[in-house]
Amino acid sequence: MRVLLINPWIHDFAAYDFWLKPIGLLYVGAALKQIGIDVYLIDLLNRHDPDLSKFISQKPDKKFGTGKFHSEQIDKPLLLKNIPRKYKRYGAPVEYFLCKLEEIGRVDAIFVTSSLTYWWPGVAETIKYIKQIFPKTPVVLGGLYARLYTDHAKKNTNADFIFDKDLSNLPHLINQLFGKTIGVSMKKWFEELDPAYELYKKVGYLVFLTSLGCPYSCTYCISSKLWKKFVQRDPQKVVAAIKRYVDLFQVKNIVFFDDAILINKERHFMKLLKLLIKEQLKVNYHLPNGLHARLLDEETAKLMKEAGFKTIKLGYETSGNLQKETGGKVYDEELVRAAEILLKAGFTKEDVQAYIMVNMPDQKEDDVLKAIEICKQVGISVSINEYTPIYGSLDWFKLVDQGAIDEKIDPVMLNNTVLPYWFKNNMDFQAVQRLKALAHSN
Ligand code: SF4
Repeated sequence: MRVLLINPWIHDFAAYDFWLKPIGLLYVGAALKQIGIDVYLIDLLNRHDPDLSKFISQKPDKKFGTGKFHSEQIDKPLLLKNIPRKYKRYGAPVEYFLCKLEEIGRVDAIFVTSSLTYWWPGVAETIKYIKQIFPKTPVVLGGLYARLYTDHAKKNTNADFIFDKDLSNLPHLINQLFGKTIGVSMKKWFEELDPAYELYKKVGYLVFLTSLGCPYSCTYCISSKLWKKFVQRDPQKVVAAIKRYVDLFQVKNIVFFDDAILINKERHFMKLLKLLIKEQLKVNYHLPNGLHARLLDEETAKLMKEAGFKTIKLGYETSGNLQKETGGKVYDEELVRAAEILLKAGFTKEDVQAYIMVNMPDQKEDDVLKAIEICKQVGISVSINEYTPIYGSLDWFKLVDQGAIDEKIDPVMLNNTVLPYWFKNNMDFQAVQRLKALAHSN
């Protein structure tokens, strides 16, 4: 039995490789290998694949292994035709993809993943090319877009199966596809499997998850809905996986994409940090996914510094009443306290950034101004992100009830480049631009 995994292209107005790895797909790969299936991978977003050099000259890495994707201008989807920006396909050239498909040859099924919902046109185009070469091979589409927009994916992508569940349901899918009963339970897949990085020839960095989900329920987020139960992996197993793949690829940057890495920190993150310090792997570690400022303490910050952490992002989002109204995950004084702890531990303004969202429902310009001011005063950087309503979040339902969003809106309209052209929230386009400029000024 042979299965091909594919990480599809991104279609967007802008995209940057900020440590993007299809980690869910790599777990699928590990699970399939465990049941004796031969697994192959084409990652159209892997800028570090040596085979790319036959088609394009590869751009060098920027900071910590991040970098620019190869891109080609393409036609915009009809819905976006009036947006005055160039629309592009980000990732490997078409010729590379076709060549890889031919090289791998006939397989019994092809699994395609998906991530941001408004990137679905890139998924559809990827499947279009697969169908040209292998019209009879079943194509399974999974990932975030498939889970959130199952009906839309059925209608718009030409996939034969939409896998809208988590990995514990993989045995059921395999039975359906191959009529083969798997004797392995996938209930504890997260505890037992390492993401199958060995499917790559070369990577420029490694991404790991040490936990799934989040016990908080912020109104703009769906983490707790995607993962009904918050689970953490034994730090010893996490470190063993990191060590194994650092040895294999000799990478210098390791990224943790957890939503809530500080929960139970004595038994989890601090233990992990102590193990990383012991291993002395000579790599940089990064936490780009918004740490819970409230849960940080001096000892943890010291351990992070000693272990070699370089990028730390604190989840802040906004100042003002909205902090409480959106779930109360952090208040101004907690953000300040966490920033001070990190600076005292030896991190610099460049190392520590706070995420601030702009144009959230009911957010005032003053809330953002105050949040930016607080970060500047305490001496950390700011990363401004324009609010995007996420399907299934509490805010989403509120916006639909208020008539601000049509329930059936196509996800391409939720792209944050597109939102300012139609989404009427508290702030106008100029206000958003002003706040962004202020955040990036010294
Ligand atoms: S925004 Fe962060 S804290 Fe809030 S629910 Fe999502 S992951 Fe959890």
